[in-house]
Amino acid sequence: MKNDRLNQIHRYNIPELRQLIVDTILDVVRKDLCTGCGTCFSICMENAITIIKNNKNGQFEPIIDADRCINCGDCLRVCPGFVDWMSCSYSSGDVNRDGQVADICDYYHGRTEDEQLSEYMSRGGIVTSFLHFLIEEKIVDAVIISNISFNGEIRTEPMITSDCEEISRRSGSLYCPVPMNVVLKQIVKEDNQKRFAFVGLPCHMAGIKLYSDINRKINEKIIIKIGLFCVGTPSFIATRKLLKKYSISENELIDLRYRGLGNPGKMLIAVKNKKIIVNLYDYYNYDFYSRCLNRCLICNDNFCAFSDISVGDARNINTNNHGHNWIIIKSKDVDGIIHEMENRKIIKIQRVSGEQFINLYGYNNNNGYREKRIVSKLFLKELPLYGRSEQYKISLRKLLSAFFSRLDQNLSKKEFSNLLKISHEIQNIFQNGVVHDP
Ligand SMILES: Cc1cc2nc3c(=O)[nH]c(=O)nc-3n(C[C@H](O)[C@H](O)[C@H](O)COP(=O)(O)OP(=O)(O)OC[C@H]3O[C@@H](n4cnc5c(N)ncnc54)[C@H](O)[C@@H]3O)c2cc1C
Ligand code: SF4
Ligand code: SF4
Ligand code: SF4
Repeated sequence: MKNDRLNQIHRYNIPELRQLIVDTILDVVRKDLCTGCGTCFSICMENAITIIKNNKNGQFEPIIDADRCINCGDCLRVCPGFVDWMSCSYSSGDVNRDGQVADICDYYHGRTEDEQLSEYMSRGGIVTSFLHFLIEEKIVDAVIISNISFNGEIRTEPMITSDCEEISRRSGSLYCPVPMNVVLKQIVKEDNQKRFAFVGLPCHMAGIKLYSDINRKINEKIIIKIGLFCVGTPSFIATRKLLKKYSISENELIDLRYRGLGNPGKMLIAVKNKKIIVNLYDYYNYDFYSRCLNRCLICNDNFCAFSDISVGDARNINTNNHGHNWIIIKSKDVDGIIHEMENRKIIKIQRVSGEQFINLYGYNNNNGYREKRIVSKLFLKELPLYGRSEQYKISLRKLLSAFFSRLDQNLSKKEFSNLLKISHEIQNIFQNGVVHDP
């Protein structure tokens, strides 16, 4: 029934359904399915959408100015929160056996050879080295990366830059929401030939893909998409709780780096006259990530299907205590660039088979999605619209793992920290050693 309605909206744009569409984009927020990506803001030609930071749930979400809205429905069409983008064939080509929308799918692990980057980068510095190369070789005119600033509160936003030093300074993962896709409005509006590389999470890339189904101009502007692996974005509540532990309030911050200072990374919290350094795994624990956005618990694109290259943490590959990245290459152009970087000794990479990658990483894309949907329903959670159905056998272990993830999130909201700890320990047993890895 719901899928029929979605198909009508997408295929025929029936005018009578437009009122429903406006209700539904607000429904995405009401149903707690919004990822805060910002794509709806960018597509709205009437400038009726504003993305606000909701301090109650610690995430970004849209509000609509009803006086400006003409009920065109574009915001819903581009919304990755509303649909399960991996299963909806109307929004993409086919998903291949590796869970990627790509002609090729080659796996590597590797790291940068630029030692200066190790102060800032998340893991192996592949993303930052790649961005430097794209700028230096004039493959793109500028890159779109994430930025964090402090002005009484934490502000995160996309940044456009062609300055390699700035790119280095902005490297490292932001384990909090960033509405990256608000940038699409600006770059599509600019009447020039500028070409960009874009770094973002799987839901950001899905938003770009859905946006490009309506406005193809974006494909001429963003020519390389660099996706990060992702199993969840902790809300700002996670950060606030953490700061509270160190008796720091958000408005005192003058710097906050979630990850940098070597492998596997440290957090830096700076206020006037004081700096605190916390080891990555001392704060990125169940207490932190159980405060992920609700939509993350029902997301099935951990390796970023819609990017040209996806990069993640190769946690179990270390040489001389250097961090390494997983790299999935999905475009022939990017394949050429990566091998040129290898030839020039800018990065070091080693190819592995798909099977080796999955064995070492612990799971494939689309991990336990059917089980997550069942558990979400059990917790009376709304689900994104689902296209193709998957008929694989349900795994009891994955079902229990999904159950305890949900329970963790519910307990963390209610501040039941002791119960949360117990629930998490049980969850670890069912995850079979596969840990939530930033
Ligand atoms: C919220 C989040 C969850 C993640 N979850 C996983 C995971 O479960 N498993 C895994 O293997 N890897 C995960 N990663 C990816 C991992 O943290 C590293 O970003 C990745 O391995 C690349 O490392 P690097 O050293 O090449 O990155 P760097 O060279 O440090 O570059 C990182 C780039 O990412 C951009 N960036 C940082 N944060 C964000 C953000 N929130 N949104 C958009 N762009 C951003 C920065 O601007 C920078 O350009 C996650 C990243 C984020 C931000
Ligand atoms: S329905 Fe159209 S006009 Fe209204 S908010 Fe969405 S995109 Fe903007
Ligand atoms: S497009 Fe993004 S920000 Fe807008 S409602 Fe959907 S998920 Fe939320
Ligand atoms: S898990 Fe990552 S990609 Fe999926 S909705 Fe959450 S933040 Fe977006």
